[in-house]
Amino acid sequence: MEYVLGLKCAICGAEYGIDEVDYVCPKHGDGGRGASGRRATSEGILDVVYDYDRIGAGFTPGRLSGQPANIWRYMPLLPVDPDVARRLSEGTVLGSVGWTPLYPAPRLAAQLGLTHLWVKDDSRQPTASFKDRASAVAVVKARERGAEVVTTASTGNAAAALSGLCAAVGQRNVIFVPRTAPEAKVAQLLAYGSTVLLVDGTYDQAFELCLEAAQAFGWYNRNTAYNPAMSEGKKTAAYEVCEQLPIGARHAAPLTAPDVIFVPVGDGCIIGGIHKGLRDLLALGWIDAMPRIVGVQAAGSSPLVDAWERGLQGWEMEPVEAHSVADSIVAGLPRDRIKALRAVRETGGAFIRVGDEEILAAIPALAQGCGVFAEPAAAAAYAGLIEAVARGLVSADDRVVVLATGSGLKDVASAMKAVEKQPAVVEPTLEAVRQALG
Ligand SMILES: *Cc1c(COP(=O)(O)O)cnc(C)c1O
Ligand SMILES: [Zn+2]
Repeated sequence: MEYVLGLKCAICGAEYGIDEVDYVCPKHGDGGRGASGRRATSEGILDVVYDYDRIGAGFTPGRLSGQPANIWRYMPLLPVDPDVARRLSEGTVLGSVGWTPLYPAPRLAAQLGLTHLWVKDDSRQPTASFKDRASAVAVVKARERGAEVVTTASTGNAAAALSGLCAAVGQRNVIFVPRTAPEAKVAQLLAYGSTVLLVDGTYDQAFELCLEAAQAFGWYNRNTAYNPAMSEGKKTAAYEVCEQLPIGARHAAPLTAPDVIFVPVGDGCIIGGIHKGLRDLLALGWIDAMPRIVGVQAAGSSPLVDAWERGLQGWEMEPVEAHSVADSIVAGLPRDRIKALRAVRETGGAFIRVGDEEILAAIPALAQGCGVFAEPAAAAAYAGLIEAVARGLVSADDRVVVLATGSGLKDVASAMKAVEKQPAVVEPTLEAVRQALG
C-alpha cells in the first residue's frame, strides 16, 4: 500500500485518497437499485493509482526471480499492507494463489493455423478458478480493516474463492448466489462452512441484495466492480503471462507481452484487470507494447458485444435477459462494463460472441488439444479464438494467449453434454475388451 497514490474514478476522473472512500466514486453513486430504486448500480468504479517511479526505483524485473511463486510476488504493485498479506499467506492456502502454469499449445495452434499459442491454466488455483486472485486480496483487505464478516454475490466461482480463502484463515463470510448455481460450486461453499444464501432470482438480483445487506450490516464487501481492489488481484495474471512467456526476438523490454489475449467476459472484471496489469507493466517499462485484448461472451449473454458494436458507453447500457450454459459469464448488466469496454477499445481488441454449442464443443477440444479441462465459461475463451481466427482477427504469427479461467470439474453436467461418446460398458473379460475396441 506504500506505493498507492490514491483512487481515480473510471467515469469522471475524480481522485481520492486511499482512505477517503471505501468502494466507488461518491459522485456516481454506490446505491444499487434495491430499496432506493436509483439507477446507479455500482457505477463509479475506481482505479487504484500507483507511484510507478518509486516502485520502479526499488522493484526491478531482476528482483522477480527471488519472489514467492504466488500473487504476492508482486507485493509493491498490490493495494495491501505487505505485513498482513505475508502473515496470512505464509503456510496457508492464501499462499497458493497465482503463478499458475502457462502451457504452450502447439497442437491446438497447428489446428488453427497459428504458430504461437499458450493456455494460462487458472483451473489450477486453490478453489479451481481465476477468482482466487481477487478473493485473496479481499481476505487481506478485510483483515486489515478488522472486518467481522466479508460478503460477496457471485455466479458461483467468486463465492467459492472467497469461501475457501476465508476458511484458510478463519474469516467469517456470507455468500449470495443465485439458486441456479451449479451444484459443485454450492457444495464448495457448504464444505468451506460459509453462510450461504441461495437467492431465488438472477445473479443481478443477488448482487443488488448483497450490496444492500453489506451496507445495512457493515460487512466488508468483495463485490466485483464495486471493490476497486478486485481488479488489482486479477491483474496479476497479466504480470504472470508476461513473465512466463519466452523472451521473443522482437521484444527489447525485460518481460514479454503477447500480441493478443483472449478473456471470457461476464461482469468484465477479469478483462479490466488484465488491461490494468498490462498498463502497469507498460508504465514501468517492463513491456514495450500493449497487446490487443479480446473479450469473449456467450451469445445469450452478450451485452458488452452489443455495446461495443453500437459504440455505447458503459453508463448507457441497459440490463438484458441473459442465459447461457456458461453460467460464470451470465450477466445481464455487466458490473465492470466501464473497465471492460475500455480494455477492448484502448487496445484495439474486439468483443466476440460464441454460441452455447461452440462453447460446449470447446471443452473437449481444449482438453484433448492441451490437457486442460475447462468449465464452459473458460472454454468460451477458446471458442472465441476459433471464431476470431475464422474472422481474420488473428494472424498466423501473432503470439496468442488464452485464459482458462475455471476447472471442468466445476460443472460436470455440462462436460457430459459436450462429449458425444458414451463409454462402452464391458463384461469383465478380455474378450469383451477386444470386442469393445472393435
Ligand atoms: C467470473 C468468471 C469469468 C468472467 O469474469 P468476469 O470478471 O465476470 O468477466 C470467466 N470464467 C470463469 C470461470 C469465471 O468464474
Ligand atoms: Zn466519478
